[in-house]
Amino acid sequence: MFSDFALHERLLKAVAELKFVEPTPVQAAAIPLALEGRDLRVTAQTGSGKTAAFVLPILNRLIGPAKIRVSIKALILLPTRELAQQTLKEVERFSQFTFIKSGLITGGEDFKVQAAMLRKVPDILIGTPGRLLEQLNAGNLDLKEVEVLVLDEADRMLDMGFSEDVQRLVDECPNRQQTMLFSATTGGSGLREMIGKVLNNPEHLQLNQVSQLNATTRQQIITADHNQHKEQILNWLLANETYQKAIVFTNTRAMADRIYGRLVAQEYKAFVLHGEKDQKDRKLAIDRLKQGGVKILVATDVAARGLDVEGLDLVINFDMPRSGDEYVHRIGRTGRAGNEGLAISLICHGDWNLMSSIERYLKQSFERRTIKEVKGTYGGPKNVKASGKAVGVKKKKTDAKGVKKKSGAKAPTKRKIANRPKTDALSLVSKDGMAPLKRRKPEAPAAE
Ligand code: AMP
Repeated sequence: MFSDFALHERLLKAVAELKFVEPTPVQAAAIPLALEGRDLRVTAQTGSGKTAAFVLPILNRLIGPAKIRVSIKALILLPTRELAQQTLKEVERFSQFTFIKSGLITGGEDFKVQAAMLRKVPDILIGTPGRLLEQLNAGNLDLKEVEVLVLDEADRMLDMGFSEDVQRLVDECPNRQQTMLFSATTGGSGLREMIGKVLNNPEHLQLNQVSQLNATTRQQIITADHNQHKEQILNWLLANETYQKAIVFTNTRAMADRIYGRLVAQEYKAFVLHGEKDQKDRKLAIDRLKQGGVKILVATDVAARGLDVEGLDLVINFDMPRSGDEYVHRIGRTGRAGNEGLAISLICHGDWNLMSSIERYLKQSFERRTIKEVKGTYGGPKNVKASGKAVGVKKKKTDAKGVKKKSGAKAPTKRKIANRPKTDALSLVSKDGMAPLKRRKPEAPAAE
């Protein structure tokens, strides 16, 4: 029960108004420690209720009689505009019976309007690193009196290249008394380095071992012969599955646009979101989806980061995500706060090994599903290794242009390798030490 926490009665009133009855596991673990003022490092997925886990203790610290505001007391950093907007909403809902004021600073919004808001000095400032730094550089932002700093979705912020910006903003808060860092995954060396730099003797709360992710979401795969066949399966699913709202993920903007075009041609109420869309489009897509005017969102990973839409109960991976962590983020869009969700990945011959790597990473086995109306010929590899990967014919060696090499060809020298034009392929090794997952460079984050 929330009333078991030492929270101010005006916050408990807001919690009751929002009809939150039982704290989620991350709230139960983090709120008491955060109320004590401890630094926290929390590994918890989006949708686990982590926002309330840090927002309620911050409000509890700042609660008091109405007063003239002189300095920003809490700063919450997030990777995307949408996530920042959602967090602001959550803060406003919890602070509705208090005098605490919050403000939002993200890219894509009017700089001067933001500067005017900053002159009024909110108690809590929520924002994305890029625009916050711009406001700081313009002399509009003073963070010297910040008492509590939150880095939310810290792993994402690093993935999106915000490491230096975040560090600069952290350095601008020298008098902070408490820092809380949240990430959906355990992250890599970049995250460890940041934790070492910004947290002081933190308590580590690991709420979601990847293997326990999305207990309320069924995860299925459907094999497909090629992209056209995937489109047929997608059509069948959208026409026959029971869902309130669906999100279709692709790995490229071009594929997202193509699928969107096909859906619109079939008179589906759909929207497309990718890094090329501007802030107005993104807002419109999300608002329409929330209000229910749009039922289907086609999106790339970058565009969908941090999206929290109620009733989103079907996730379709038209393309398999390029890493286990990306898969976790996509699937995290559904099955939120205990609701049931369904995640379906469409798997061609070329997706199989990636899919089985992700199964091993998650320590889960996806349900195999066939739909007889759109059944193809490919049903997975004939033989699989113990790892689940296909037993394949050894790949013929090819050069960068895809031309077959003569068997006696010499391996390139080191210098030649160094001079080679850079490809956009990155190699990832997942945290459990499994075989490297090949992935392409992610879509560049939308400018903040
Ligand atoms: P978050 O992980 O913070 O993005 O939260 C995901 C969703 O769960 C949000 O819509 C929250 O409002 C909702 N939520 C958070 N905590 C609770 C709770 N204890 N009971 C019911 N819903 C919750």
